[in-house]
Amino acid sequence: MLKNLQEKTKYFKYWKRAFGLVWRSAPTHTSFWALFLILQGILPVLTVYLTKLVIDGIVAAKNSGGDWPRVSRAIFYLALMGLVLLVTEAVKQLSAWVRTAQAESVSDHLADKIHKQAAELDFAYYESAEYHDLMEQARGDSSSKPLALLESIGAVVQNIITVVAFAGILITYGWWLPLVLLAGTLPALYVTLRTDRIYHRWWKSKSDDRRWANYYDAMLTHSNAAAEMRLFGLSKYFRTLYQAKRSGLREEKLKHLRRQGIGKLLAGSFALLAAVGAIGWMAVRVLYNLASLGDLGVFYQIFSRGQTLMGALLGNVGSTANNSLYLENLFTFLDLGSKVVSPADPHPIFSTIEKGINFKSVTFCYPDSTAPALSDFNLFIPADGVVALVGVNGAGKSTLIKLLSRFYDPTEGAIEIDGVDLRRFDVRELRQKLSVLFQFPMHYHSPAGENIALGNVEKPVDDKEVTTAARRAGAHDFIMRLPEQYRTLLGKWFVNGTELSGGEWQRLALARAYYRQAPVVVLDEPTSFMDSWSEADWFDRFRRMVSGKTGIVITHRFTIAMRADVIHVIDGGQVLESGTHRELLKKDGFYADSWKKQMQAAGEFEPRMDNHPPNAGDSKIFT
Ligand code: ADP
Repeated sequence: MLKNLQEKTKYFKYWKRAFGLVWRSAPTHTSFWALFLILQGILPVLTVYLTKLVIDGIVAAKNSGGDWPRVSRAIFYLALMGLVLLVTEAVKQLSAWVRTAQAESVSDHLADKIHKQAAELDFAYYESAEYHDLMEQARGDSSSKPLALLESIGAVVQNIITVVAFAGILITYGWWLPLVLLAGTLPALYVTLRTDRIYHRWWKSKSDDRRWANYYDAMLTHSNAAAEMRLFGLSKYFRTLYQAKRSGLREEKLKHLRRQGIGKLLAGSFALLAAVGAIGWMAVRVLYNLASLGDLGVFYQIFSRGQTLMGALLGNVGSTANNSLYLENLFTFLDLGSKVVSPADPHPIFSTIEKGINFKSVTFCYPDSTAPALSDFNLFIPADGVVALVGVNGAGKSTLIKLLSRFYDPTEGAIEIDGVDLRRFDVRELRQKLSVLFQFPMHYHSPAGENIALGNVEKPVDDKEVTTAARRAGAHDFIMRLPEQYRTLLGKWFVNGTELSGGEWQRLALARAYYRQAPVVVLDEPTSFMDSWSEADWFDRFRRMVSGKTGIVITHRFTIAMRADVIHVIDGGQVLESGTHRELLKKDGFYADSWKKQMQAAGEFEPRMDNHPPNAGDSKIFT
C-alpha cells in the first residue's frame, strides 16, 4: 500500500520536473498554449448552448408566423453561433501552430540536456548494457514525453472544463443525468489504465530485444560494416536475425493492441447504451410536451459529444499515465551520477611534468568483473623520453591508459604525476594535458584543417599551427593533394566529402595530437595501418614531437618497441621485465624469447643486437 503510494508520488515528481523543463525551454509558447487550452474547453459548451437557443428561436419564429422581433432574435443567435464557430476554428489553428513551435523548442532543449549528460558521464557507463538501454530509451521514446505529458494533461484539463460545463447544463434537467454521463465511461477508464500499464511493462521488458534489432540494423546500414557485409556475404545473415527479432516484437505488440481494442470496444458499447437511454428519455419528454426541441438538440449534442469527450478524456488520462511511466527512463538517465569527478578544491594543474608518472600499487577491477585487470601494479614513467608498453592481448596495457585518462579510478593504489594523485586534479584540466592517439582514431566528418584543430578547441583555430602540425605528422603533402586542401571535407557521409586511407587518417590524428601540445602523449597501437617504412618514419616524427615531453607507446611491434628509451613488458596486469632493447635481449627473458621466436620465423637464428631487425615490418613481439 505504502509502496504503491510512493510509486504514485514519484510520478507526480516527474510531472513537476517535466513541466519545469517545458516551461524553461518555451515560456511564451507555453503561456499561449495554456490560454488556448482554456478557450478550447469553453467554446464547445457555448456552441451547444447556442444550439438550443437557435433551435428554440427558429421554432418560436415559425410558430409566431414571422413576427419580426422573434425572427431577428433567431437571426442574432444564428450569427452568434457562426461567430463562435469561427473563433473555435481560429483558436484551433493558432493552438496547433503554438504547439508545434513549443514542441520544437522543447525537443532541442532536451536533446541538449541529453547530449551534455551523455558526454559528461563516466566512461564506465559506455561499457555497460544497462546504460545502453537507458540511453536508448532516453534518446528515443522518452525524449518526446515531457511535451506529450504536457499535451495529455492539457487535453485532460480542456476536456474536464468542457465535461464539467456540460454536466452543469445537464443538472438543470435532472441531478442524476451527469452521473449517467460519468457512469457510462467508467468501464472505459478501467480498460484504458489497465491495458496501458500492461503494455508499458511489456515494452520495458523488451528493451534488450529492441537493442539487438537496432544493432542488426546498424550492421546492415552503417558504413563501417559495409565492406565486411559484402566480403563475407553477411547481409542475409543479419537480415534474417533482424526480421526474426522484429517479427517477435511485432507479434507481441499486435497481441497487446488486439486485447486493448477488444476491451475498449466492450467498454464503448456500454457507454453508448447509457447515451441512447438518456437521449431516448428526453425524446419521450418532448413527445409529451415536457421539453422543447431545443432541449432535445442540447441532449443529443451533449451525449454524443460527451461520449466522445469522455473517451478522449480517458484516452488522455491513459496517455498521461503512460507518458509518466516513460518519463521515469528519461529522468533516471538525466540523474545518473558520475564517480569520476573533480575534487572541490583541485590542485593547480601542471604545465610540464618535472619528475614523472608513478603507478603505485595500482589494482583495478572493471565494474561487474571479478578478476582484476591490474593487480598491485607498479611502474614509473620518467618525465622525459619514450616508454614502450608491450604485452599480449589482454595484458592490461589499454587499461593503464584508461586509468591515466581518469576514465576510471583505481580500485586500490594511486597514480601520481610529480607526486600528486591524479584524483586531486580537475578532471577536465588533467585531460587537457594528455594527448592520446587511439588505435582507431575518430574520423571527424569535417574539413581536414578542422580535423587537426579539434585537437585543441580551448583556443581559437590557428591556421599556421595547423599546417605546422600537419607537416610534422607527415600529413601536409596528402592534404595539399586533396581537392580543396585544408578546406576539403573529409569522410563520405556528406556531399562532396573525400575519404582517406587508414594510414592517412592516422597521420591526421597524429597532427591533431601535435596541435594539442600536451605534455603527455600516448600512442595506442599507432601504426597498425602502416607498412614498415612508414612505421620507421612515424616513430622518428613521434620522437621529435615528444622531445622534452612524456611519450608512452603501446605496441605489439618490435620495430616500434625497440626504438623506445625503456621497454616494459606487461603480463597478467603486472610488469614482467623492463629495460632497453639490448638489456632485455641480454637478460634472455620473456622479451628475448619472443624476439628469438620471431627471428627464427623470419629465417634468422642469431638474434641481432643492433637496432635494425630483419624484415622489421612483419616482426611482432607477441601475436
Ligand atoms: P590490452 O590493452 O593489454 O590488450 P586491456 O587493458 O584492454 O588489455 O585488458 C586487460 C584485461 O581487462 C583483459 O582481461 C580484458 O578482458 C579486461 N577488460 C578490458 N576492458 C574491459 C571492460 N570494459 N570490462 C571488463 N573487463 C575488461
